[in-house]
Amino acid sequence: MNYQYWNEKMETLPRPELEAYQLSQLKSTVDRALRTTFYKDTFIKAGIRSSDDIKSLADLQRIPFTTKHDLREGFPYGFLSIPLDDVVRLHASSGTTGIPTTIYFSAADLKRWAGFVARCIYGTGCTKSDVFQNMITYGLFTGGLGFHAGGEEIGMLVIPSGAGNTTRQFRLMQDFGTTVVHATPSFLLHVEAKMKEEGISRESLKLKKAFAGAEPYSEDTRRRIEALLHIDVYNSYGLSEMNGPGVAFECQHKDGLHLWEDGYIAEIVNPETLEPLPDGEVGELVITCLCREATTLLRYRTRDLSAFYTEPCPCGRTHRRLRRITGRTDDMLIINGVNLFPSQIEEVIMGIREVGNNYLIVVEKEGVMDRLTVKTEVGADIFMDDTRPLNALKEKIRKTLQASITINPRVELHENGSLPVSEGKAVRVQDKRPRDV
Ligand code: AMP
Ligand code: ZN
Repeated sequence: MNYQYWNEKMETLPRPELEAYQLSQLKSTVDRALRTTFYKDTFIKAGIRSSDDIKSLADLQRIPFTTKHDLREGFPYGFLSIPLDDVVRLHASSGTTGIPTTIYFSAADLKRWAGFVARCIYGTGCTKSDVFQNMITYGLFTGGLGFHAGGEEIGMLVIPSGAGNTTRQFRLMQDFGTTVVHATPSFLLHVEAKMKEEGISRESLKLKKAFAGAEPYSEDTRRRIEALLHIDVYNSYGLSEMNGPGVAFECQHKDGLHLWEDGYIAEIVNPETLEPLPDGEVGELVITCLCREATTLLRYRTRDLSAFYTEPCPCGRTHRRLRRITGRTDDMLIINGVNLFPSQIEEVIMGIREVGNNYLIVVEKEGVMDRLTVKTEVGADIFMDDTRPLNALKEKIRKTLQASITINPRVELHENGSLPVSEGKAVRVQDKRPRDV
């Protein structure tokens, strides 16, 4: 196999040097953290007064964990470690209502981030001659602008097509000879189904590769997309709290995702005890961001489940590989790439006076896409045989939900007291999507 490295020195740095580099970056991250209102307090409690208290990577264990809840509590500027004047962009986590988790970037942060994404793309064999169609949401979600910048860094022709609208996507692919795309795995499957429907022949496209991420998918799904579209599919992992895409990515071997350890320190911990787990064991991924000066985040609990591979990769990169992410330790649902907590739905529907007390969230596969149905009971004073007000209520719930969660749900109304009541802890979510991971 022919390997190409975007940043050969860093990607193949011998581990002792890589760890020494991590330590120096961790020290400056700790000093930056002391400038934030959040860490100033937590560090003092943990007895950390300056980076001098961090003598080795093992001292990372002295630093307390940070959670999504902390990020919300610290909204808007609790994690900011540079003057606001030096901030040039912000991104926020998708699909959240109320207080979003917001990440700020300096100009240098954006440059570094683009470098990490470029490294991922280039490592799959892409060059500046490729035409890259970025079929993912732009905006507050990091997938669009993150990949966009990485593609431009390499010098590819980047088509910012955004998500959805398959007919236009095909048109762009044919007009400009797209060779590489980025999308959620569900959208790639949808694209294939639509291709058949619209009579677009595979031969009319120059497609060679796809980067697929933002939601969990299995090895079988990857193989299926590869076989249907005759392309190579690479798994892309990232989260907005760690900039977005460019955290971990598959190389040409497509066997585990290299986590860029010069930008991030990753730990796998037991989600219950929070104790570190040995390599190879599945646990919660905890990440410290070393490559961003504007927003400082240390030991962030991602809630994603993964494990470290123990063997080195034949590609020569020294950065450890993560097993594909198979699920989460919390109740966050990912629906066609959009994050959704059941509590967000509850917040909206319980705010509508005519809605009764019980509800159920059902997620299913409809074709290749995810489908969200929200079943709610109506209040006791509403008659089920009067369809006009019922339809109006249904539409009101649907619109209010869509405005808030950015997903268009199907809404079903049920008679007061008719939805199943579970004994003990209510089971409000039925995720019926096949799990073949
Ligand atoms: P966001 O902050 O909106 O970018 O969402 C990040 C979350 O999406 C992660 O914490 C994961 O739960 C999920 N995610 C992103 N990429 C992948 C992937 N390749 N495989 C599985 N889950 C992913
Ligand atoms: Zn590799």
